[in-house]
Formats: sequence, C-alpha cells, structure tokens
Amino acid sequence: MRRVKRRPSRSARGGARGGRGRSPQRWATAGSGPSSPARSATPSPRSPRAPAGAAGRKPAKRGAGASAGSFKAFVLGLDLLVTPEDAVAKWQEHVQALAVEDLERLQGTGVYFDLYHPLAAVRRHERRLRAARQNAEVFMRDLQEKRYEALRLSTAAQGPGDREGATCRTTGHMKPPHFAFDPNVNSVLFSKVSPHVRMWHLHDALQKCLGLVSFSFTDPAPGSLVREARAGFETAEAAQAALDLWLSGERSLQGHSLSPSEPVPREGLKALAVPPEMSLPGRICKDAALSAQVVRRLDGLTGVPASVTESLLAGGGSEEARLDLRVLYLRRVHHFCFYAAEWCPDEWELSERCGAGMVRTAVGEDAGAVAPGPWTEAHEQRLAAFLETSGLQQPVPMSSDEQVTLDKKAAELIQEKTKQIAEGKYQCTACSKLFRGPEFVRKHLHKMHMDLFETIQEEIHAEAARKAFLAKPIRSAGMQQRKVA
Ligand SMILES: [Zn+2]
Repeated sequence: MRRVKRRPSRSARGGARGGRGRSPQRWATAGSGPSSPARSATPSPRSPRAPAGAAGRKPAKRGAGASAGSFKAFVLGLDLLVTPEDAVAKWQEHVQALAVEDLERLQGTGVYFDLYHPLAAVRRHERRLRAARQNAEVFMRDLQEKRYEALRLSTAAQGPGDREGATCRTTGHMKPPHFAFDPNVNSVLFSKVSPHVRMWHLHDALQKCLGLVSFSFTDPAPGSLVREARAGFETAEAAQAALDLWLSGERSLQGHSLSPSEPVPREGLKALAVPPEMSLPGRICKDAALSAQVVRRLDGLTGVPASVTESLLAGGGSEEARLDLRVLYLRRVHHFCFYAAEWCPDEWELSERCGAGMVRTAVGEDAGAVAPGPWTEAHEQRLAAFLETSGLQQPVPMSSDEQVTLDKKAAELIQEKTKQIAEGKYQCTACSKLFRGPEFVRKHLHKMHMDLFETIQEEIHAEAARKAFLAKPIRSAGMQQRKVA
C-alpha cells in the first residue's frame, strides 16, 4: 500500500504556495498515518550528510508501544512470580486492549479515515500525481513566457553582502535571480481542525473555489488529535476569494466549525548556500546531466507527459543555465531539492526541510583553492541512492485477497437475492421483479441494486482500515468530547 520506497511521504498534494516558518507537527505526506514526531531539521548544506534520500522518514510514532505507557511501569505492577515471557505476553495483551478501545473511539472520525482507510491512500496518491502534472504545466507556461530568463542559482548573481554564513538573502518570493519560494504566499490556513473532519471533505469543498493548486494537512498533534490544513492558490485573488467565501458563509464542514486565516508570508526569504565546490565547471556539467536524470525519473513516476520533459531538458543555454532550470523545475514541480536529494510530498514540507531555495556559493577569486571535497562525494552518493531506490508505488483500493473475498461475497449476495418461483421464472427478492433466467436477475442486481454491492465493498475497506489501525494505532486522547453539532 505504501508507495515511496525512499521517502515515504504522506499525503498526496502538491502545487504551490503555503507553508510557514514554524512547524507545529510535521505535515502529513503521501503515505498514511502520523509520521515521525518531528520534521528533520533543515539540512545544513555545509555538512555532508548521509544520503538523505535513502534515509526516508522515520516510522510513525504511533505504534502500540509508544502509546500504552511504559513497559517498565507495567511490569512493576505485575505479580512478582510472573516469568519474563508471561510479562511480555501480558504487556502485548494490554497494548492490544488499549488499541481496541482507541479504535472504538476513533472509528468513523475524519482522522481515522484520513490515516487508515485504503481509499484515503488512493486519494493522496492521485492528488500527488495530479499536482505534479499541474505544476509542470504551469512551469512550462512560465518558461514560455520567459519568466525565468534571469534565473541564476548562484551567489554570484547578487552582491557579496547578501551572503550570511550558509545562507544567502534572496529578493523575495518567486523573484529573479533565485526564485526563492514561500509557500505561505497565496495560501489559506485552517488551524485546529477537529479530528471529526475528513481532510478530503475539506479538500473537495476547497476545490469548488477557483485556482486551488495545492493542499496539505498535518498529522494529528500528539495528545489532542487536531490538525492543520493548508491550501495554496494560483493567485492572491483566488486565495482571498476562498478565504472570503469561508468567512462569509461556510464556516463549518459537516457541523464542525473551521477557522481559516491568511498565513503571514515570511520576511527576508533566505536560500541555503551550498559550498563553492558545487560551482566548479566540471561539477556543473556533471550536475546538469544528473539533474536531467532526476527530472526524467520524477516526471516518469508522476506521469508528466514526455513532451514536457523533453521540452524542459532542451531549455537553458549554457550548462549552468540548463542546470539551474532543472534544479528549479525539480523544486517547483516535484518538491525535490537537488542539492539535498530530498523528495517531499508538497511545497510546505520542502520549505521546512530545505528552505526557500538553494544556491551555489560562487567560486570567487581564490578559484585555485577550491577542489571537490567531502561535500561533492556526499552529493553524488545522495543522488545515486535516490536514482537507485526512488519509486512511487500506487496504492490499491483492495489487495488481491480482498478482491477474492469481494467476489465471493458478491456471488453469495446474488444467490441470496435470486429466487426461483417456477420453471423459467425467477424473482429478485430485493424488489420482487420477475425474470426468465437467473442471469437476468444477476444483471438486474448489478444495475438496479448497486448499493448492495457497495455495502460489501465498504465492509472490506472497513476491515482493512481496522487492521491498519491495530497494526499502528494512535491514541484517542483528545476524543472525549463528542461531536457537538
Ligand atoms: Zn430487484
């Protein structure tokens, strides 16, 4: 069910703008379920790190053990004569019993659906693919309109005073030469969203507003289960219109009030600066080729048309211009940071992990002193690991075993609803209509009583969600107050 081999990102979304300086809890990304408790810190481009791509996200902190108190405290409460094996068995029982309690409280809530229902995983995936294609289209349109003529991802593009340690001041959101990106621009923030709300219902409601390009939501906050959602829009006007619409009327969703607001754009957007060895001519050439490989890989995985890929790869004049264009494309379209080899599910997460942009530190006058070092080595390793392992697995609504169960139950249903009244006379017991043969009843059931089959399907999905929950439960603390409206 999970898709990404290397960076299992959770929700499918993507698009443009939104995000903010802080990170209360990490954003839900394309997988499912709460992910690691804390977002990884923005990588320092100065320190070679372990291949970021290969690391992926830490497993979710939900896990029964994490939520059932301490094993030590539990064991201390047991009879002194209990053997270690029995203690472990009792602990597992205890954990499972708690998970079942939590399941009962959470079943039917939005947070449960978004994290565990197989159809939610399918939606995340589809949303991510759609967003990549949409982003690619917008990027190519901008390219044709010559928006990126002055693009240059180097500190040489600005005065020396703009460099501050490992960061470089930029001219602002989507402005040349660095085209740094602030996802908070043109976005709407929904904070403290009730756990009862299905994020996909919010998404669908937002999609009725014009110009929605991205949607992202966090995992539940520990201990409270509330979440945050962000929607990015094509223009400031579209974001404002969506905000006005919510503020003027639809303040609630399925009886749960929502409080949308306009997140504050960041001040003094800074890009991270990678070391001068990344600016060596030989490196630029190699990176132009490597970035093309990554573009092909990610476009292929997300279904961006080949014509778009080829047209992008043909763009840019010099090797450096080609590289810059590809690096920017990877960020804007795929939320991939070329210099950290981080693939994020949306622009908010990219912004948190890899800043508003990445630029190469210019070689400067002491060019002779700059040589490929550990950073170069780590950079190559990261990209090689990414190219080797990256993938995007399509979640399926049903496993093959579940499909077999579905077919079996459907056959049973047909048998149950078909009654032979006389020779050559069959009745549909759901509506009493008569037919000449059982095959006509079967066709009729599929056509006129679809809801019966849908019920079976939903039961199978519910069972899959239940299993997924019990395998990796979250605590229901914060769910005491039931829905008010
Ligand atoms: Zn019927």
